[in-house]
Amino acid sequence: MSQKFIMNRFNQEKRRQLYDSQEINKAIVKIAGYINHDYKELNPLLIGVLKGGFVFLADLVRLLDMPLEIDFIQVSSYGRNRESSGRAELILEPQIPVSGRHVLLIEDIVDTGLTTGFAMDYIGKLKPSSAKLCTLIDKPSRRKVEVEIHYCGLEAPDGFLVGYGLDCDEKYRNLPGIYILGG
Ligand code: 5GP
Repeated sequence: MSQKFIMNRFNQEKRRQLYDSQEINKAIVKIAGYINHDYKELNPLLIGVLKGGFVFLADLVRLLDMPLEIDFIQVSSYGRNRESSGRAELILEPQIPVSGRHVLLIEDIVDTGLTTGFAMDYIGKLKPSSAKLCTLIDKPSRRKVEVEIHYCGLEAPDGFLVGYGLDCDEKYRNLPGIYILGG
């Protein structure tokens, strides 16, 4: 893992690299292997949690070799701040019917667990045949709500992460690696 410090050219905010794109790819290949095995015959419905999960979902689905469908939900939690508001609210519902489907919720990160817990409860009420959680990153140190993670790529320490879909005030989503802001 690189401990390199980089200064952002645009706003000079210091960030430290936690995972580079090769490490991220390795984690996703591993998750894809499990999902290919577990969902082979199940025609899963993958529901990506916007916005942060879009890069992970895009990379993950290209490694899955079974028929599947993709949809999205959006849950507001952090707003434009770095601290969770502690309240979750659905702002985009899935368009594909969930009832009777094998659903995989695709998250960027599970932090306090509030957003993910809310999203899994919401999916559960739509009567899927099964619902499992797949997250690229688990940040267990800040957990407030217990959530069962079925597939997890990487663990992260406490700190605000950006890159690979994760933002700070809508910036940094395009970075290929994952960084901790403030170093
Ligand atoms: P939780 O409700 O588990 O605290 O947070 C879930 C959501 O908050 C994630 O889907 C993500 O959008 C956002 N989030 C949590 N931790 C971080 C972080 O370190 N960086 C960024 N950019 N977003 C985070």
